[in-house]
Amino acid sequence: MIYVSTRDNSKEFSFEEVFIKGLADDGGLYVPKSLKKYNSQELSKLKNLNYNEISTEIINQFSSDFISKKELSYLIKKSYLKFRENEVVKISNIGELKLLELFHGPTLAFKDVAMQFIGNLYEYYLSKNDKKINIVVATSGDTGAAAINAIQGKSNLNIFVLHPNNRISSVQRKIMTTVEEKNVFNIAVEGNFDDCQNIVKSMFSDLEFSRSINMSGVNSINWARIIAQTVYYFYTYFKLNKKSISFSVPTGNFGDVFAGYLAKKMGLPIDKLIVATNENDILHRAISNGDYISKKVKETLSPSMDIQLASNFERLIYYINNSNSEKTAEIMKKVKQNSYQIEKNNLDIIQKDFLSESCNEQETLEIIKKNYEINNIVLDPHTAVGVGAANKLSFNDCVVLSTAHPSKFPESTNSAINKREKLPNELQHVLDKNENFQILKNNTDDVKNFIKSKI
Ligand SMILES: *Cc1c(COP(=O)(O)O)cnc(C)c1O
Repeated sequence: MIYVSTRDNSKEFSFEEVFIKGLADDGGLYVPKSLKKYNSQELSKLKNLNYNEISTEIINQFSSDFISKKELSYLIKKSYLKFRENEVVKISNIGELKLLELFHGPTLAFKDVAMQFIGNLYEYYLSKNDKKINIVVATSGDTGAAAINAIQGKSNLNIFVLHPNNRISSVQRKIMTTVEEKNVFNIAVEGNFDDCQNIVKSMFSDLEFSRSINMSGVNSINWARIIAQTVYYFYTYFKLNKKSISFSVPTGNFGDVFAGYLAKKMGLPIDKLIVATNENDILHRAISNGDYISKKVKETLSPSMDIQLASNFERLIYYINNSNSEKTAEIMKKVKQNSYQIEKNNLDIIQKDFLSESCNEQETLEIIKKNYEINNIVLDPHTAVGVGAANKLSFNDCVVLSTAHPSKFPESTNSAINKREKLPNELQHVLDKNENFQILKNNTDDVKNFIKSKI
């Protein structure tokens, strides 16, 4: 498959470049030049496959010039061995709604689904290229843990994870900082998630630095992550066996919900995608009335969604502008100046596929409480926002993506229902193991120097 950048689609790229680089040199995001669209007959052929088989079929559409289908199938199987569910994900009921449980991987959040795959994809790449790669990633809590778990102990790979000091849950931090492998480095930045992300971005755009260390990124703009997430939309549609289906997706960087949009563009009969946000509601304001103006980030009970500028939204901007990269580049300039209002005609197009809602802190706690009392289900605060958004929009017949295991956010569940969920046994050890992380100032040079001193 051929890829282009959202800001200049005159140049073409291979899957390998797209995967290893993450972000295009012009600052744009990679998208396929054209997409395979499944018709209903082709869809019905996928219907009875298991999760790994569906995954192989879907991902192979995007990666066949990089890895053969046979090797891909092996790699996917290997990626999901550590999951506590045979079928990787699980669909359960919560009242009239369905929950798509995506948190059965090794670090208890949906990010494992894509990240375990990516870790093995790096290994595959390095088996063919004599190189050492340094992965650098900013995390609001879950990406880092998932990436560390996927990369730890792999040869010719180091991973540096920047998290905002004291702004993630203690369990989120411990899952990252108790890993003892020598290729894992945790940095706590004295700032918020956007500060961490800005440091990583400025290191990437310093081409001399980033090339000198073979720097690579695994954040949610990486196309390989998106396609691995597209799979569970297909899987859920087949399992539920309905004519069409809607999803409510707790959203931060617009990665997971964009994967659903991609599934729809590939022909999956998705009706609506609900973009569910916490008080950092820029995407809700954007989708409901076109207001894409970012405000200061608020710390909430659902830290993995405490994001103001959702990187993956650029891909949607590109598609709703009929793949016009000049137009997209212009809009992204406005976004940078924080002065983008979505045009009326574009908003109409967005609203054909998307709805949105936002839940504040009080509402999130009440949803956790109510669902515990009525359904005896403990929701993590991110999933609670997804359930709350579906409730507010009176969408009873819809699938809510359950993005994290409640035991990962004991502080939140404790304040809602006076109860802390137990961590799964294989993670109990993180609670009392020594933590290892370096606190650094919110300063790119300090981070660069730290990285140079370690490689
Ligand atoms: C990352 C994350 C989200 C947000 O996903 P995006 O792809 O950034 O929109 C939601 N919930 C949890 C638990 C997460 O870790």
